[in-house]
Amino acid sequence: MTPFAKLGLSNQLTKTLEKSGYNKPTPIQLQVIPLMLQGYDIVGIAQTGTGKTAAFVLPLLERLKANQNKAIPKHCGALIIVPTRELAKQIDDNIDKYGASTYHQRACIVGGMKYPRQIKRLNQGLDILVATPGRLEDHLKSGNLSLAKTETIILDEADQMLDLGFFPAIRRIVKQAPKARQTVLLSATMPKPIRALAAELLDNPRDVAVTPQSTPVERIEQAVMLMDKPEKRPFLLQALKNQFRTIIFTRTKHGADQLVKYLLKQGVTASAIHGNKSQNARQRTLDAFRKGEEHILIATDIAARGIDIPDVSLVVNYDVPTTPEAYVHRIGRTARAGRDGRAITLCAPEERKHLCDIERLIKIKLPIENAQVGEIDENAYNPMKALAKPVAKPVSKSRPKKHRKGGSTERTEKKSDREWFDKKRKPKVRKPAGRRKAEAGKNSNGGQQHKRGDQPRKKGGNKNPPRGPARNRAHD
Ligand code: AMP
Repeated sequence: MTPFAKLGLSNQLTKTLEKSGYNKPTPIQLQVIPLMLQGYDIVGIAQTGTGKTAAFVLPLLERLKANQNKAIPKHCGALIIVPTRELAKQIDDNIDKYGASTYHQRACIVGGMKYPRQIKRLNQGLDILVATPGRLEDHLKSGNLSLAKTETIILDEADQMLDLGFFPAIRRIVKQAPKARQTVLLSATMPKPIRALAAELLDNPRDVAVTPQSTPVERIEQAVMLMDKPEKRPFLLQALKNQFRTIIFTRTKHGADQLVKYLLKQGVTASAIHGNKSQNARQRTLDAFRKGEEHILIATDIAARGIDIPDVSLVVNYDVPTTPEAYVHRIGRTARAGRDGRAITLCAPEERKHLCDIERLIKIKLPIENAQVGEIDENAYNPMKALAKPVAKPVSKSRPKKHRKGGSTERTEKKSDREWFDKKRKPKVRKPAGRRKAEAGKNSNGGQQHKRGDQPRKKGGNKNPPRGPARNRAHD
């Protein structure tokens, strides 16, 4: 008996899985598949990249195999609701892969696409429907679809749905399905509003968790690079010289577009994906990146969750994310499917608060690296090598209260942030004890040629740091 067959899956499905190179179930699959087959409601904490799509799709396909009833026009047997169009397409592709040998009718219904084709598909009746909340509600309101016969509802990436304000729509949608349904809710993090939604919509659910709440995958090497905002672009340019598949996250759509323009001007090909791009453009960019035709993707948090691109080796937080959960999701784009990955965060003094919030959430003091522009030479700096392992130092509970709460998206630099920045950024040049002794008494640099960043900083730091609105405008 194969490991998947032991979970209750038929030969037909397990053979298809073997063909895809799935030899044994991942931990989330081990837990979710049998529970779903037994008909339980499930609340699952699972990070992206854990194989959670197969965990809920395989039982759906298994049930279809057993139940040969034809799909009813304008109805769907199973409904998978996801926050973004990209994720919907990805799940649809996965159902296609896992269900290659199982007869099923399915559709992917998302915004940004024309209605007539979607209406035609809904008219035919569906076994599995993958949809985003907005367009789904449109079809429900217009009578193109009814959930009166829906037996299973999957709510995937619930935390992103919460962030995007989809919970009222989710409540309205789910309540249109019969009470005697199976409901599965999956999320990478489980804050209180999600627990509350689960309590409202699920019936006596089984809890499933494959990783501790909100902790980033351990395989990701993480580091913070301190730099003023104007230094970020040239730093990035140098960091990208070693071309490998990189996702760069910016805070705003405008910031993403500006960065693409800057990189293109410097001869570096990059494309952006964000909410102002048409759905087709978003999908084209993502496909080119996935196929390896492009190596650099610049994204807002719209692409931070759920998207599965196996070999992203570096994630750059060009702006420190303003909500700590977004950090967890962003860095989760790397180190997928058992691979290693690195995440670097470029932090300006005024972004310190957000950094503190992240460290508090992930319970790790992120190592700070002194990568200063002008000091990075191609031979010495390779982001693939230069990063230190995260120091698993618990974050001190005695932090000042003022950093405790999440808050506004932008704030101006405070004097204390600048002092922290200058102090932390001061390079620590560690020399062997013998050499330190021998050099004692000599002049400050011991007659040696230091790199710029190694020179002792003048008291008070840079007297003329670029300030003011122009600087903020250029780099938002
Ligand atoms: P997901 O978390 O569903 O986005 O899946 C992450 C990646 O893991 C995808 O590339 C899947 O193809 C892959 N995957 C899922 N289940 C397995 C498995 N049992 N064995 C090997 N790879 C898997």
